[in-house]
Amino acid sequence: MEVASLTVDRIREGLAARAFSAVELATEALRFAEAENAKTNAYLHFCPERALEAARRVDEKLARGQDGGALAGVPVAVKDVICTRGVRTTCGSRLLASYVPPYDATAVMRLEQAGAVVLGKANCDEFAMGSSNENSAFGPVRNPVAPERVPGGSSGGPAAAVAQGTAVLALGSDTGGSIRQPASFCGVVGVTPTYGRVSRYGLVAFASSLDHIGPFARSVRDTARLLGVIAGRDEMDSTSAFAPVPGYAAALDGRARGVKVGLPREYFDGLASETGDLIARGVDALRRLGCGVREISLPHTPYAVGCYYIICTAEASSNLARYDGVRYTMRAPGGETLIDMYRSTRGEGFGAECKRRIMLGTYVLSSGYYDAYYLKAQKVRTLIARDFAEAFRQVDAIVTPVSPFPAFRLGEKLDNPLEMYLSDIYTITGSLAGIPCMSVPCGRTVAGLPVGMQILTNHFDETGMFRLADAFERAGGADG
Ligand code: GLN
Repeated sequence: MEVASLTVDRIREGLAARAFSAVELATEALRFAEAENAKTNAYLHFCPERALEAARRVDEKLARGQDGGALAGVPVAVKDVICTRGVRTTCGSRLLASYVPPYDATAVMRLEQAGAVVLGKANCDEFAMGSSNENSAFGPVRNPVAPERVPGGSSGGPAAAVAQGTAVLALGSDTGGSIRQPASFCGVVGVTPTYGRVSRYGLVAFASSLDHIGPFARSVRDTARLLGVIAGRDEMDSTSAFAPVPGYAAALDGRARGVKVGLPREYFDGLASETGDLIARGVDALRRLGCGVREISLPHTPYAVGCYYIICTAEASSNLARYDGVRYTMRAPGGETLIDMYRSTRGEGFGAECKRRIMLGTYVLSSGYYDAYYLKAQKVRTLIARDFAEAFRQVDAIVTPVSPFPAFRLGEKLDNPLEMYLSDIYTITGSLAGIPCMSVPCGRTVAGLPVGMQILTNHFDETGMFRLADAFERAGGADG
């Protein structure tokens, strides 16, 4: 069996036809993933015992004639900011290098209840801060499509694992673009659901009001299936929504006729590049599918990056205060006093980007600056959300690029944090508004680099988003 070409449906058929057992599939998937990992560093560590145990449970159910679950036997990679009981969860940080959580994130629990097989933990930027996966304390990830380039970030590992074919599905996290941007760079599908759609219980917090867990897969249908399993109210996360979970995958019929699509002027001004051309061709394909396309305006877009980097750093400075050498983490040796111990532990444990954000966040929250920066940013966030609310009175979906450029070279933007921050320009607005957004492969540049198209819909309209993305994918993307 060829793991790299499997889909959720093919696995279901294979198991039903007894072409392979779940244990055989898990064994082969682990072997393949471990062998391929030398090329990309997509996984930080594997959990073979847990994987085989999950697979065994599926085989037992099938042998008894029971349903194996919606994701029976499907190999999954889980970003290492999502807690797994008994399996190290490092957040890509030296501080948590040996942290073993005593519980599973709700999303992981639901995955396994549905029969999925977690192979291991995927690499990421430290505490999910970054756009290139180069902030991982355990080395960067290489883009499987172009090994001298970054896979995007912060969920570079999950995106690379799916692109490489070592996992059929992956769980990532997105705060300002960390699922969509790596999906775009690696040529896979990545989905950020509505804020609150998926429980954050067990997702290590970066910026709590912006953090989302979401799926990666090689097809829209498979991301829809994965979201269907992990979505829904969870008592353990009071911000998780009560809204019922519709059958996302069942709604996919390849039709997009009559869908009203808006193109925000602010996202296309000055986008004269190969990316711009590909997105324009993608929009033409949507027109051929029968979508009505019109220009719209999201006037507060220019303030989004500034607004995001104030809010996310403020929340991060507070969330990261718990890593103090007493709980969870490594403790640096030496130091006479408690303060010395904090200082040396945090000084040695955190990488440069985390320190930068803790300092920025502490500054914008400090007395005298709170009103000028943090409170102001919260007001701007409301204006950005209102822009979307206004737009969705006119259109059903908004289409934009995911990133202004395709995957860049390793090291290319490392010395320029501001330029790195600006690369999130198109993904941050959707995160601030808390609406569903996704990246679907649009096409490739002349050099063969993948470019993703972003689709955004109104709160809880994941179905509309998946339907449009699926129709686009079936039509062949920009080439359709
Ligand atoms: N690249 C953005 C940042 O560095 C987004 C990160 C994320 O979504 N986790 O904050």
